[in-house]
Amino acid sequence: MVSRNEQHIVIVGGGMTGGLLAVLLAEQGLRVTVLDGAPAPAMPSGPAQLRVSTLTEASHWLLRNTGVWDCLDTNRVQPYGAMQVWDQDGTGDVTFRAEEVGAATLGWLLENGHLTAALYQRAAALPNLDWRCSVQVDAARREGDDWQVRSGDDCWQADLLVGADGARSRIRDWAGISGGPRDTGHHALVATITTAEAHGGCARQVFMESGPLALLPLFSDVQQGEQRQCSIVWSGWPERIAALRDQAPADFATELEAACGQVLGRVELLGQRAVFPIQERHASSYVAPGLALVGDAAHVIHPLAGQGVNLGLLDAAVLAEEVGHALAAGRHCADPAALARYQRRRRGENLLMQNAMRGFKQLFEQRALPVRWLRNTGMRWVNQAGPVKRFFASQALGRSADLPVRARPEMSAMYRR
Ligand SMILES: Cc1cc2nc3c(=O)[nH]c(=O)nc-3n(C[C@H](O)[C@H](O)[C@H](O)COP(=O)(O)OP(=O)(O)OC[C@H]3O[C@@H](n4cnc5c(N)ncnc54)[C@H](O)[C@@H]3O)c2cc1C
Repeated sequence: MVSRNEQHIVIVGGGMTGGLLAVLLAEQGLRVTVLDGAPAPAMPSGPAQLRVSTLTEASHWLLRNTGVWDCLDTNRVQPYGAMQVWDQDGTGDVTFRAEEVGAATLGWLLENGHLTAALYQRAAALPNLDWRCSVQVDAARREGDDWQVRSGDDCWQADLLVGADGARSRIRDWAGISGGPRDTGHHALVATITTAEAHGGCARQVFMESGPLALLPLFSDVQQGEQRQCSIVWSGWPERIAALRDQAPADFATELEAACGQVLGRVELLGQRAVFPIQERHASSYVAPGLALVGDAAHVIHPLAGQGVNLGLLDAAVLAEEVGHALAAGRHCADPAALARYQRRRRGENLLMQNAMRGFKQLFEQRALPVRWLRNTGMRWVNQAGPVKRFFASQALGRSADLPVRARPEMSAMYRR
């Protein structure tokens, strides 16, 4: 039997997904190397970064149970206890509140770079985890029972190779796995704004025919005032989003206020706007002999419900759990049955979420009067129907049936419902 520390796992990609997976595997005594093309992640300070993510309860528990949460600067983490969703075109309005599902909060908003820096900091405390930055992997191929990974003249031998290298995964290509893309017809504009009224720890999203606009509550900034900063994600047709990006800041602010019905009063743009094309992807397989894909390398979904990172973190947790089971049974870390179980546990759930996002997008694009009527009636009904509303809120919290053990709350009051 090969001992744990003789087995070497190479993870290409030290983003949020790859970083968490590295910590979870190294905690089990495996020898882990992370290779990432970007420079070492540093703890942010000053103005909020443009790229932010909403994290679910399941993600929060995973990060807490691995000690990563303790590495975060709590002043830059914003919990939100309510979520308001409405239709610009009518009267449909749903507000979800944490207390309705027995939770203290519905989620947390934090900067992507902040989370990566916390993962990097946590990884530094694990002696069997070697996280290399500024290493761009340019080749990987199967050699016998191993994978050989190359960056220039450097070479690593892996018993298990993990592609956590994002949407344009080269690992996926080198393994001969297809993975899209499929154009969604949307681009997304991200920016930071200040608002006249406090966000009150509420995440807001308005659905328009042209696409959704999210106003996500950011941490308080001394200069901008208490609860006066939001991150926005405005998705829509490429020409419309390009026009919004190129508008003078004051005109952009006026258009934004009109789109969200001045829900937080007057707004002001802070800093740059950035635009991302939104493509969907789903790998034809998450696994191959000696190899697994996680996070955006395996699936990319529309960001309208802020679930991409959360799905990736759950991939990482399930893969680590299955590898752990294989090791406990005296099997190899790349045991084919363990990899197959990983794929079985994650693929269906990720596909479901991808299809749900596609369905939401299409539903709100409809101009036909009967569809608009149904949409608004449906939203009002959801708002009034307790069990249905609790179901949607639970989904937003990331409470799925097959959560890995480390993503389950210790105080599982709501799991007993
Ligand atoms: C506008 C927008 C808003 C979003 N909002 C949310 C949200 O609120 N909540 C949410 O859950 N999700 C959100 N998402 C989705 C989320 O950003 C992604 O799902 C997430 O970043 C994927 O993380 P990852 O670690 O899998 O991949 P990535 O973040 O893409 O990381 C991949 C890493 O691999 C490295 N890499 C790539 N190729 C190589 C190579 N050849 N060699 C070495 N290193 C390599 C890169 O340097 C990078 O560090 C949003 C997405 C968009 C576009």
